[in-house]
Parts: sequence; C-alpha cells; structure tokens
Amino acid sequence: MAIATVNPTTGLTEKEFEPDTSEAVQIRVAEAAEAAGQLRGTRYEQRAAWMIAAAGILTEEAGSLAELITIEMGKPIAQSVAEVLKSAKAMRYYAEHAEAFLADAPLEDPAAVGASRAWTRYEPLGTVLAVMPWNYPLWQVIRFAAPALMAGNSGLLKHASNVPQSAMFLDTLFERGGFPKGSFRTLLIGGAEVAGVLADPRVKAVTLTGSEPAGRSVASIAGDHVKKAVLELGGSDPFIVMPSADIHEAAATAVRARINNNGQSCIAGKRFIVHADVYEAFATEFAKRMADLVVGDPLDPATEVGPLATRSGRDELAELVDDARDRGAQILAGGTIPDRPGFFYAPTVVAGLTDDMRLVQEEAFGPVASLYRANSREEALRIANQTSFGLSSAVWTRDAEEEAWFLANLEAGAVFINGMTVSYQELPFGGIKRSGFGRELAAVGIREFCNLKTVWKA
Ligand code: NDP
Repeated sequence: MAIATVNPTTGLTEKEFEPDTSEAVQIRVAEAAEAAGQLRGTRYEQRAAWMIAAAGILTEEAGSLAELITIEMGKPIAQSVAEVLKSAKAMRYYAEHAEAFLADAPLEDPAAVGASRAWTRYEPLGTVLAVMPWNYPLWQVIRFAAPALMAGNSGLLKHASNVPQSAMFLDTLFERGGFPKGSFRTLLIGGAEVAGVLADPRVKAVTLTGSEPAGRSVASIAGDHVKKAVLELGGSDPFIVMPSADIHEAAATAVRARINNNGQSCIAGKRFIVHADVYEAFATEFAKRMADLVVGDPLDPATEVGPLATRSGRDELAELVDDARDRGAQILAGGTIPDRPGFFYAPTVVAGLTDDMRLVQEEAFGPVASLYRANSREEALRIANQTSFGLSSAVWTRDAEEEAWFLANLEAGAVFINGMTVSYQELPFGGIKRSGFGRELAAVGIREFCNLKTVWKA
C-alpha cells in the first residue's frame, strides 16, 4: 500500500511519501532508544510540563490539524476538531495523574513475608512500538503516547499508510513541547516492515489498534520475541433496546452510535437488537433518522456523514450489504453507493438477518446498521454474544433487575446503560474475545507499559 494522502471526498491523491529506508529506520530506532534512556532519568514534574506544552500546541493548532484529519480520512470537520481537543485533554490528564497512578505501593503487613518493608514500584519499559489505524489519526496515537511518555517510555509510531501527514505531525509534536529528541518517532513504513522493528532488542513492547489479521500477526511476532503486546482490534458491538426503554431517545442515540466517524469506529453500535414489543416503533424511527442524515463534503459543517476513508473499505462494506440482500435481508434505508466522486456509502439499515449472512459475523466498518428482533431478553443476549468480538455493548432498559442481568452476562469489555459507548480518559478501554487484550486509558492504561517491580527488604 502506497504511503499517501488520498482525499476520500474526491478520490484524488493529494500527497505521496517515500517510505523510510532501512538506514533511516535504524537511525530513528536508535534515537528513540537513546531518548528512553534520558526519559528514565527525568522527573514526573518535568515530563508533565513538556506534555502540557505539547497539549497547548494541539489546542492552538486545532483548526489546521482538524482540517488535515478530515482531508486525510474524511470525518466531518466538527468531529475532527473534537478529536484534537479530546487528545489535548488526555495529555493534560496524564500530565496531572501519572505520578499518582504509578506511585509506590507498600505492603501493609511486611512481616507476613519476613521483611521489614516490602513494596512495589512502576518503572518504564523503554521504547514501545505503536501500530495505529487511520480512523482516529490523532486520538488513537495520543491515548497510547500520553501515558507511555508520562511513564518515562519513548514511542515509535507505525501509522496507517493513508494518514502520513497526521503521522508526520505527531513525529515532532512532543519535541516541540520540550521532550528530548527521539522521545516519539514516526516510521514511514509498510506493515511488512513491522516485524523487523519489533524484533529489534531496543524495542521492548508493542501496542496495535486495527484489524484482527494485523493484530494476530503482530501479537505472534511479539510472542516469538517474548515481548509485551496490547491489542485493540475490531468490534461488532450490540445495542440492545428493551420495552422499558425510552424508545425515542434510544433511536436518536442509536443513530449517533452508528454514524459517528462515518461509521468507522471500533466501539460503534453495529448490531441493534430490539425486543419484539417495541421493534416496529424503534425500527420505523431509526430507519427514518438514518435515511434523513445529510451526506456530503465533510469540510461542510452541515454534513453529518462523510465518505469512507478508503475505496477498498467502501467496497467491502457494499459487499457485506449486497451479500445480505442477496440472501433475503430487507434494506430499510440506504443500501446504495451514491453517484458522486469519492468513497461514499449511504447510511443503511438492514433487517431480517439470518445466520448465513456475512453481516452477522463480520464487522461493518461504515454507516451500516444491522437490526435484529428478539422475543425475550434471553434471545437478545444470545444474539448479542454470538459474535466473535467482545469490545463494548449498550443496553437500554429501565428495569433494574434486567439491567443487572445483562451487565453480568454480556461478553464485552464494557457495558453502557441507557447510552452509547464513548471512550473516556477516566475509564479503562479494551475488549475480550477477538477484540483483543490489555487495556488503554485510566490508571490501568499507563501501567500496561511499565515494569511492576516488587521490592523486599530484610
Ligand atoms: P489494518 O489493521 O490493516 O491497519 C491498522 C494498522 O495496522 C495500520 O497501521 C496498518 O498499516 C497496520 N498493519 C496492517 N497489517 C499489518 C501487519 N500484518 N503487520 C503489521 N502491521 C500491519 O486496518 P485496515 O485499515 O485495513 O482496516 C480493515 C479493518 O480493520 C476495518 O474494516 C476494521 O474492521 C478494522 N479496524 C479497526 C480499527 C479499530 O479501531 N479497532 C481501526 C481500523 C480498522 P498499513 O496501513 O500500512 O497497512
């Protein structure tokens, strides 16, 4: 895959980049390794000051950076601005909380282990490689980089090949904030070059956000070298609506949950599982709201849904819908490729799904909602859990006992009740099953790339 910005609104190539030579990669890895040595010796206070300065750069440059994100991957401009500001907020959050999250923890009863004192301390691992996707070109990277750098690690970024300008912005961001040279380095390389970088003894661990095949490949290489890996892969999150829910609110939120980021979010509600008692009311309102969405140029503030990030992503999505239609599903909204340049797909609602359809098992990475009718809460749960993914989930109910039952039985890394899944810096984020392992964000996120050292003193 060429390393290039291809504007998904027009389909035109805006800028192409030469991949880094292997010599350039070596230099960058060496810089990152040296920076890790320096960062290890710095104090939290110092790193926090640099991190806050880097966050200030994001805030100051939010307008131009948001425009770049929209040009590279097509999300509506207001959502790009929100992504930049959210990233700056997370940087400030870790600047403020890292020291407390990684504070020494004494054992209350050291005599139990025959010690005068025993405690644990967190230390940085060194240089961590991040393999990142294009869907949130800034946020996905920052939610790794802010905690990693605050813990005293350095970072190497292999970003998706279709967002090279965002990647190059990140290459200098932390140094502009004051971090030592090499603290965060972008490698302009393809996926095939990742194995060599990960095998390098100076690289201590890896985090990947992206597809299941990419995750499987990177985790197996990490396993070969016995290196820590965190994987945040896809999701096919259920959004369950029970009869006691506020149906209008559920339908309005369902639309946002599905079309945010033009539908290309791992935590988007993708499968809408609705109790038979309220199915018709929900389906009618949901399909109408989806059909009424304004599709267009994502730089136009009136646009609600822009193009898909890549032609191949759009074509794969269209294939999933066509497969369902051919096997007898009903299309309640959309189901078409609009007649215009760029990689657009109409907001779509598919109902009447059967187990032989690909949409039932595969992740629909775009504005396509699958609608299921469930006759009981047991059936709703069965449909919710039948996917191989287990990232997040949402349940709409005002029945406390029902809420507790879903909470206990949903196979997912998170449950949002009467709302949609959103990532918050204060809450752990990650999945089970084929959605990956490990957690990002909150206190647990910063600890993933640390050595938890146990100390025992006679
Ligand atoms: P990929 O997983 O292919 O890309 C994500 C990142 O991994 C990119 O940097 C990519 O580099 C890299 N990569 C891909 N294959 C390998 C490999 N074998 N070894 C090392 N690195 C690799 O995602 P796509 O863009 O192709 O999207 C396909 C699907 O992935 C989507 O439809 C969706 O299901 C899922 N996805 C999930 C995301 C999430 O947030 N969890 C985000 C994006 C996609 P390069 O760009 O150079 O190929």
